[in-house]
Parts: sequence; structure tokens; C-alpha cells
Amino acid sequence: MIVKDVTNILEEFTPLDYAEDFDNVGLLIGDSKQKVTGVLVTLDTLENVIDEAIDKNCNLIVSFHPIVFGGLKKITGANYVERVAIKAIQNNIAIYSMHTALDNNNAGVNAKICEVLGLSNTKILIPQKGSIKKLTTYAPLKAANQLKEVLYNAGAGNIGNYSNCSFSNEGIGSYKANENANPSIGEIGEVHLEKETQIHITFSKSKEKAVLKALFNNHPYEEVAYEITTLENTNPNIGMGMIGELDEPMNELEFLNTLKNRMNVSCVRHTKLFNKKVSKVAVLGGSGAFAIKAAKQSGAQIFISSDIKYHEFYQAENKIVIADIGHYETEQFTKNLLVDYLTKKIPNFAIHLSESITNPIKYL
Ligand SMILES: [Zn+2]
Repeated sequence: MIVKDVTNILEEFTPLDYAEDFDNVGLLIGDSKQKVTGVLVTLDTLENVIDEAIDKNCNLIVSFHPIVFGGLKKITGANYVERVAIKAIQNNIAIYSMHTALDNNNAGVNAKICEVLGLSNTKILIPQKGSIKKLTTYAPLKAANQLKEVLYNAGAGNIGNYSNCSFSNEGIGSYKANENANPSIGEIGEVHLEKETQIHITFSKSKEKAVLKALFNNHPYEEVAYEITTLENTNPNIGMGMIGELDEPMNELEFLNTLKNRMNVSCVRHTKLFNKKVSKVAVLGGSGAFAIKAAKQSGAQIFISSDIKYHEFYQAENKIVIADIGHYETEQFTKNLLVDYLTKKIPNFAIHLSESITNPIKYL
């Protein structure tokens, strides 16, 4: 196995274009063709994590957070980011990061928190915009069904619990081939009219490459006429945060204590309790103040996240309980999720869960 093989397996689960635009995901350091001796999965890549990778004979670190985020202008070892980069390169260790791609995965960071808290009927809190695309193409009548079939197989045409979704209408296509063309139907220099099917089909943007490859490899024409548009529709399967339901409603204090236990936290910073039952819970791993409004609108009685500032707690507005359990704490089980996934996919491979403590925050 080379680095690319392992990252391809990860991207089957979490395509990198699920990530937010501001993010820096994928292979950050190292050679994608390097043979992998072992994989170390971590939340953060610090110097102690590189040491652990060396000890465990792992030359690929799969890190949730990207160690290089804003770019590096110098690599002299002046700060921890530069020292990690230098140490990784000197020891031939590749670093791959998933970050918001995994946040936006409906089986990712927040699904794991929901699982730990025992929430069911989960759905995305803030569905992603701009991630559904639509292909329109034109094929001779006889070729249309087979073309639709290969587009479905490439991942197009899925809406909710339905597959093979498309819309077709018939019309007349027109073209004239010049002397350099090699038309599969029609003659050079003559205007040709062909009965064609116009096919409309949607797909998730992560499938774009595969869908276009299927289109070009299977369309009978030398030049394929097609249009791709990005839809305004939100994608209910991809996005930030999650809401879920408790099987048995609990009172607020009982729920907060369960939260403390299950998430191993020593301190929960929270807003005023209302002495009401909690049945619906919103969660967002990592910094989640931007989602307070969505959490309130979702009908959840409590929103669990981190990095909430003093004035942001006010946004609870007596409508929801905001509970901040710490950034590291919300994301701590993410590495278990990745180790479980990789171990299932490549059972005979050395996949290690990092034991290094990377949380910079201590509680007294
Ligand atoms: Zn984070």
C-alpha cells in the first residue's frame, strides 16, 4: 500500500470536496507514492505525535486538524507548526488532514458525538449549499438509456432514498462536422439533424469527476454537448452539525450529567436551565457559535458545542440551553471513528490510535 491507496480509502468515506472553502485538507506533507509502513490516527499533529509515529513505525499520520492551515512562508523551526513540518519531512512521514470534510460528513464527527450520546433519528443541522450539481446532456435516442445507466453507476441520480432519478425529453439536435471531424453519425460538411434525448440528472459535487468520465467514455458523439450547473438547493446529506433525539426525554440536569460522563469532561459551561425535559439535542463538534441560530430554529432544547464566547452565550435568548464542553472534548472520538473505519477496510494493516495528548487546555 502506498499513501495514495490509504487516502483513496479515506476519501471513499469522506470526499475532500465536502470541506469548507477556507479549509486546508488532503495530503499536507509527504509523497503520495511512498510505501506505507503504518498509519497513526490523531486529532492534531504536534511534535509528540511525530515522535509517536516514529516509535510505532508509522510513516503516514492521518490528522483531523491540518497542522499547516494559513500557509508557511518560512520553514525554520521558529514555531511549532514549522518544527512539525521539519520533523515530518526529515523522518519521511506524510501528513494527511480531513478536518471540515469529516465535519460535513453525515457519518463523521457529529454522527460520532450523537452515537456516544445515544441520539437517534439524526439529521444534519445546517445542510450544505452549493454541493448539488446538475448535468444536462444530449444523446441520440437509441443511446440515451445506456448513457443514463452509466451515469447512475457513476453516482448520479440519487435523491434521498431514491436512485436512478433523471428527467428526459426529446427534441432535434443539429450539427455540421468540419473536415477535421470524425462524426459517428452524419457526414462531413452536411448539416445533420438527429432525434435526441435531453437528459437532466443531478449529482453531489464530489461525484463530478466520475460522472464526467462516464459521460465522455460512453457518449457516442465525438464532441459531447453538455452543461453543468450548481444548484441553490441545500444537500440534506452533507453539512455542519447534527440534531438527534433521546429515546427517553431527560430533565436538563440529568442530561448534562450524562453528557459529562459520556464525553469525559470535567467542566461544562452552560446557559440558564429551564427545568424542562430534553428530548431533542443539537451538536456541533469544534467551534460552533455560528450554529446557535440554526440550533434554536431546529427545536432542540440543548446545543452542545465549544469555543462559545461570553457574548455568544447571550444568543441562547431563553430559547435553548447552550453547553460548551471544550473543543478537544467535542472532537475526541473522531480518531476512534477513523481507526474503526480503516481497520474495517484494511484489516491486516497497521492502523494505530494515537495516545499522545494534544489538548492544549488543562482544567484545575
Ligand atoms: Zn476542531
